[in-house]
Amino acid sequence: MATTCPCGLSKSYGECCGRFHAGTAAAPTAEALMRSRYSAFVKGDVAYLLRTWHPRTRPALLELDPGMRWTGLEILDTGDGSAFHATGTVTFRASYRGGSLHERSRFERVDGAWVYLDGEFLD
Ligand SMILES: [Zn+2]
Repeated sequence: MATTCPCGLSKSYGECCGRFHAGTAAAPTAEALMRSRYSAFVKGDVAYLLRTWHPRTRPALLELDPGMRWTGLEILDTGDGSAFHATGTVTFRASYRGGSLHERSRFERVDGAWVYLDGEFLD
């Protein structure tokens, strides 16, 4: 049976988002960062969420709802955010038990590394 990363790609967690969480690799694109942040929500990795948040918009404290059960991530659209860009957007739907979140997130590079800037809810 194939192992799947929480972000939905058919790679093991360790070969996918786990490398970014461990700090042994950096997300090469805005989409990869978005996927790794979703996986961090699934894993409850608050430290990773904070360190991939833009210093300008990063909350001082982040508390995750322990009752939240994320059930899947669907990337709907991306704009820029490749190795050749300094900014990018990712539109996605993140599902959880009882609902889903439809958001367009903005990402920027800070010292070369992709970070989450902010997002707007689409519905
Ligand atoms: Zn992943």
